[in-house]
Amino acid sequence: MDDIKYNDDLIPYLYEGVYVVDCNRKILFWNEGSVRITGYSQAEMVNSYCYQNILQHVDEKGTLLCLEGCPLNATLQDGKIREARVFLKHKDGYRIPVMVKTLPIYDGEQHIVAAIEVFTDERFQKEIYHENIELKDKLHTDPLTLVANRNFFDFQINKRLEEARLFGNKFGILMIDIDHFKKVNDTYGHLVGDEILKIVAHTLSSNVKKTDMVSRWGGEEFIAIIDVASNEELTAIAERLRTLVAASGYKLNADKTIQVTISVGGTLVTKEDTIKSAITRADDNMYYAKQNGRNQSKIV
Ligand code: GH3
Ligand code: MG
Ligand code: MG
Repeated sequence: MDDIKYNDDLIPYLYEGVYVVDCNRKILFWNEGSVRITGYSQAEMVNSYCYQNILQHVDEKGTLLCLEGCPLNATLQDGKIREARVFLKHKDGYRIPVMVKTLPIYDGEQHIVAAIEVFTDERFQKEIYHENIELKDKLHTDPLTLVANRNFFDFQINKRLEEARLFGNKFGILMIDIDHFKKVNDTYGHLVGDEILKIVAHTLSSNVKKTDMVSRWGGEEFIAIIDVASNEELTAIAERLRTLVAASGYKLNADKTIQVTISVGGTLVTKEDTIKSAITRADDNMYYAKQNGRNQSKIV
């Protein structure tokens, strides 16, 4: 069996289970992934025979595949690559759903000398996948308003600016601040303030394109990255958002709906900008909008 070559350096660390049997179905190799998925150690498996039925592959109907219908054995016989969904028995006795793939290994004269089985624990992968998505969402999201958080904004603006430098395209940013928000808190309490923050965030994020991004900059301030190339387009979007926020409201009770307005400062970001220069310009414009009477936008 000296002429069988598998990469000893990499296979042991594969996430998948990998094992190799010779023509007599003696297990020659059993990687770490196999140990992790099945619970059986190398010492227990190497040099045993896979037809000894340790793993007890069964199909969906519960039919034992080890003696008849073993995909690894079939591949040893005809050299065909097979894929099947089977259920292995873990050392602790429970059944694990796995996808198995069996492949032949040839010697220099094109004779099948061994076969390899790769198996993945589907259930475990699905869990990891969903956990990763959940974790990613948490890292990116402001917990109160559920729009992107500042970390994610930093990540996105860096990416956009890099693209701008590479390809010379422009994009817009909007700095958005709720007007007289302190008064809302003082009058109705912080919890009502929170509800209004959520409504404003939702109105903003629901009314930009998928390629745009609204994030919470902090407190009652939001910053948006908008996929436009001119001040006219950016102004139109800023005005649309401003109008829609002014037309939204939090229903406190049957008689009272609380409404707020926003002041918006925007600017186009070009390849000459740094993040700081772009944000300073947007911030100055927002400040101008405040000074000029609030509930307005200024885009330069
Ligand atoms: P201006 O029109 O000049 O922006 O007035 P303002 O009152 O909005 O400005 P200021 O910066 O003085 O006040 C912002 C307020 O936003 C103060 C703070 O209590 C409130 N605020 C910041 N973060 C939160 C939050 O997470 N929840 C609530 N309810 N209020 C917040
Ligand atoms: Mg503020
Ligand atoms: Mg404010």
